[in-house]
Amino acid sequence: LAGACGSDGGTTAGGGSATGGSSTGGGSDSPQVGVILPDTESSARWESFDQPLLEAAFEDAGINAVIQNAQGDAAGMQTIADQMITQGVQVLAIVNLDSDSGAAIEAKAKQAGVQTIDYDRLTLGGSADYYVSFDNTVVGELQGQGLADCLGAEAADIVYLNGSPTDNNATLFAEGAHSVLDPMTDYTVVAEQAVPDWDNQQAATIFEQMLTQAGEIDGVLAANDGLGNAAISILAKNGLAGQVPVTGQDATVQGLQNILAGTQCMTVYKAVTDEAQGLADTAIALINGEEPPTTGTVRDETGGRDVASILLEPQAITRDNVKTVVDDGFVTAEELCTGD
Ligand code: BGC
Repeated sequence: LAGACGSDGGTTAGGGSATGGSSTGGGSDSPQVGVILPDTESSARWESFDQPLLEAAFEDAGINAVIQNAQGDAAGMQTIADQMITQGVQVLAIVNLDSDSGAAIEAKAKQAGVQTIDYDRLTLGGSADYYVSFDNTVVGELQGQGLADCLGAEAADIVYLNGSPTDNNATLFAEGAHSVLDPMTDYTVVAEQAVPDWDNQQAATIFEQMLTQAGEIDGVLAANDGLGNAAISILAKNGLAGQVPVTGQDATVQGLQNILAGTQCMTVYKAVTDEAQGLADTAIALINGEEPPTTGTVRDETGGRDVASILLEPQAITRDNVKTVVDDGFVTAEELCTGD
């Protein structure tokens, strides 16, 4: 299978750790850093990659960190943040579920003297001291170019399944994809919709309606592997899987398997290992009263401010270079080749 299966895989990054919280490193009982992940449904990444990789990064640094998952509940995220502040964290990092609730959490933390970091998603109108993520516009550009490469220079009706309307990243992904695809006159956008909370079930329903209405769809710009898989399931139901290129993101086991099976055209690999390390480095610097290294700033128009940021480079993955992700130790050949 495109050179991926059968190779020696290396060690897995993900460990299938519990969805609950976890504490790492440090000798003392009270956590120095709190991290709140958003959910487990919008992408397999949070549970499979971010949770274990963040645990490892803080553990290696000897930092006592507590990592929780808000399970898609914004009020619950606030409650978890309150608990972490009570526990005495010096730094709080969140992946917001929407900018308003994220901004409220950050404002409250600030009041309590806790420094805050936006992890992966920028909180518009928030007060985070730092932002650690990937260049999300480039993610969208890679998806747009990936779809174009799979479609070739032929007339094609394409649809967009965008991410959650409350996720600033989803806005950037769509902008990036449009910036590449819109000038390509072969392609016509016949439908475009944002999927609330990145919900895969809803994505399938939305895509099924698109297909019914359009009659024929030649390409699907899906914002991540979960949304892509939802579209693929509907295409499969109609005997079309593998005939219609579908994009993705996150290099999840499912997305990579779809690529190897020929039902998905590409995914975007974001080395979460580096993102987790970036967060750990930033948190440690803040605890030590040092200035964390950054790669630049990101504009928050809502808040009218530039946020000091670490932005990492995403990478396009197709059938031809799936092995990159395995060689990186992000997933194992066993996971890809033996199924879930
Ligand atoms: C992340 C993606 C993820 C999506 C759904 C985005 O903010 O950048 O990696 O697929 O959220 O969780």
